[in-house]
Amino acid sequence: MLTKVEPLRKVLKLERDKGYADTAVIGGLDKFLRRWAAQALESITSPPLMTDFRRLRLDDPKYASLNQEQRQKWISDVFAFLESIKTEKPEVKPPLPKSVTPPRKRVIAAVPEISGQSLDQPVTSLKGVSTAMAAKFKKLGVQTIRDLLYFFPHRHLDYSQTRHISELTGGEEQTITANVWQAQVTMLGGRRGTEAIVGDETGNVRAVWFNNPYIAKSLPTNARVVLSGRVTVFGGRHVFESPEWELLEDKELVHTGRLVPLYSLTRGLKPRQVRKLMKQVVDQFAGQVADFLPPSLRQRCNLLELPRAIFQAHYPEDETAKDNARTRLAFDELFLLQLGVLGRKHEWQESQPAAPVSVEKPVLDTFLKSLPFELTAAQQKVLKELLADLAKPRAMSRLLQGEVGSGKTVVATAALLAAASSGYQGAFMAPTEILAEQHFTSVSEVLSRTAAQVSEEDNLRRFSGLLDRPLTLALLIGDLKQASKQAIQQRIRDGEIDIVIGTHALIQKDVDFNKLGLAVVDEQHRFGVAQRSALRQKGFNPHVLVMTATPIPRTLALTLYGDLDLSVIDELPPGRQTIKTRWLKPTQRTSAYAFLNRQVAEGRQAFIICPLVEESEAIQAKAAVAEYERLSKEVFPDLKLGLIHGRLSAAEKDGVMHKFRAGELDILVSTPVVEVGIDVPNATVMLVESADRFGLSQLHQFRGRVGRGSQQSYCMLLAENPSDIGRQRLDLIEKIQDGFELAEEDLKLRGPGEFFGTRQSGLPDLRMAKLSDVKLLELARTEAIRLFEQDPALSSPAHKLLSAEVARVWQAGGEWS
Ligand code: ADP
Ligand code: MG
Repeated sequence: MLTKVEPLRKVLKLERDKGYADTAVIGGLDKFLRRWAAQALESITSPPLMTDFRRLRLDDPKYASLNQEQRQKWISDVFAFLESIKTEKPEVKPPLPKSVTPPRKRVIAAVPEISGQSLDQPVTSLKGVSTAMAAKFKKLGVQTIRDLLYFFPHRHLDYSQTRHISELTGGEEQTITANVWQAQVTMLGGRRGTEAIVGDETGNVRAVWFNNPYIAKSLPTNARVVLSGRVTVFGGRHVFESPEWELLEDKELVHTGRLVPLYSLTRGLKPRQVRKLMKQVVDQFAGQVADFLPPSLRQRCNLLELPRAIFQAHYPEDETAKDNARTRLAFDELFLLQLGVLGRKHEWQESQPAAPVSVEKPVLDTFLKSLPFELTAAQQKVLKELLADLAKPRAMSRLLQGEVGSGKTVVATAALLAAASSGYQGAFMAPTEILAEQHFTSVSEVLSRTAAQVSEEDNLRRFSGLLDRPLTLALLIGDLKQASKQAIQQRIRDGEIDIVIGTHALIQKDVDFNKLGLAVVDEQHRFGVAQRSALRQKGFNPHVLVMTATPIPRTLALTLYGDLDLSVIDELPPGRQTIKTRWLKPTQRTSAYAFLNRQVAEGRQAFIICPLVEESEAIQAKAAVAEYERLSKEVFPDLKLGLIHGRLSAAEKDGVMHKFRAGELDILVSTPVVEVGIDVPNATVMLVESADRFGLSQLHQFRGRVGRGSQQSYCMLLAENPSDIGRQRLDLIEKIQDGFELAEEDLKLRGPGEFFGTRQSGLPDLRMAKLSDVKLLELARTEAIRLFEQDPALSSPAHKLLSAEVARVWQAGGEWS
């Protein structure tokens, strides 16, 4: 018998009616026929039928190359052929419907029906899945039937093009359908294997399977078999070497003759076994998955229905179907992710109104005029965006990205001043004490240009002449003496302090703001999501600005920080030069030191970053002390060196930084703590030990410590014996100056999970979606926003399934829920 006769007949009729112009089907008749034949072939069981099929070349059509007359003749031959088999048994095999694949008879026999919540049943409820096998699946993150449906192959082998044996060529992956003439156990390379001779009407070919004598038993003489795999040439003859094989029975091909899925397996799971199981599961259960996307959205975005997408992602009809399936499933991931982040944003933006902050123009003007430079166009643009956000009665939620040294601090300071001028408190949170202190110093410095400093205590500065009352600035870090810490906390509570700058000490529970209007978080990537929201809870829903110099590729920013609006300072202040970056071998260390000496002789300063010691801060500090001593005594006995590491007290650190900034030290030896933020324009040399141990963005941060003044600056990277990936990173940083470009490369090297470290993950899994797929991501975001505008709580009946899916996915995602 032959299946799928009707669709063929229809197409051929149409083709005849249209005058044999090869216009009946899009893409041409040959393509249609090949696809049709791939499925029809498997239903052929009688040899004469096969002979006719082959004679007409239905499986390998050349319709396009025929002339009008030949086409006419060929089609009428095919009609005659179809007529001749009409008497055969009617089709029993249902054609694959467009959307849902109903369970097939064989499959039902193998997988018992499960009613109700079947998709959430454990995999052990499937026949043939033992507890031992379930344990192996669990290792792959698969526990339920739904997990199995979403356990997608990492790729497919294209075994879809069937050939005649006479057409085989060496070196390629190919598929044939043939008769088994003989299969036997034989010695291959000293071990028992299987050798088979198979043939079709064009010839015979040998197939061998090394180490696998069992296959011989499965290939009875005269059985029809499909072989897919690489063909090699041995002694001038073609041989299939360990091909995938499958008997041609009355069922769809699973391992051969099609796009065959490859699953990531774990020890003890065999490819054929998993493929077979997956086929059964997909056949039976894909149709039961409810499509949670509203139909209108699905149509607008031209997406497959979910059951079909799942089916096609595993066992695609062809490449196009596979791609479409992937698109749909990737869209789902991104869309659900966007709905999640937008939901969070909505929650804290809409639940409580924020305090509108409007800056008094004279205050801002005075401030800007007093700066020793003009804001760049990019800074001005971003400041405008910030001020517009602040003036709204809904909390700002903005991510400010700017290349290292692009001048984010001054923009943030202007925003903090705006808050203060409207009577609100501002908080400025930095990831390290050194950086908090630096901000405190530089904001004080900037303000003292603008206004008169009227009082100075340890951690408190007061300025008059700018606002209609004195403006108070405070530093709050963990390292302060208990008494002064408490004093500052009290003043924050009383509302006496306008702007407080600090570390995460700011978000501890004994800090209560009187009227927090704006929270600025510097170097955002160092803070986890939890810390961000802790800060947010410190006020009556304050405006939040987070800043990062670790450029985040746009796609990742939209994903990871989809709850934030994005501002970018994409311009450096004028006069910045490119920093000459060199990766040096250990043998070049001496000349690096000599170079450093010359720079100091010219009045410049330098950083030396000690090797990264992983164990603990204490051990790192010790290593840094040792290195400092070696450098001071043996290498630079005539220079003034300073040392900074995490074990120093705040006052000590402050002292060292102060000296370095004031030019009293030539070289600052440091553990990797200087990485972020430090701003000393006279420093022109950055020397990094064990540079291969650092990530790209970290290296870029180090490099950003120099080149801040007008002098040519240098970054020297020492690496003993870099690994391949270390080498790649060093090559990249040598070549690329632009932080965004580096970030893209970093993302490629490391993948999004590691990009920010585990603390930042907690996003739902992205399996199908690629972060490089900007278009799809933007589509998902647009659609999520659109849906959100209509129904933010997802409460309409049409969104019931969707709402459940968001909950399900985000619950699994963890931290963010
Ligand atoms: P980052 O964006 O890395 O935090 P900073 O805010 O530390 O950069 O600024 C780097 C340096 O550039 C500082 O010394 C700052 O005073 C200076 N700066 C900021 N804006 C400008 C500008 N528009 N023109 C010149 N120098 C500027
Ligand atoms: Mg900074």
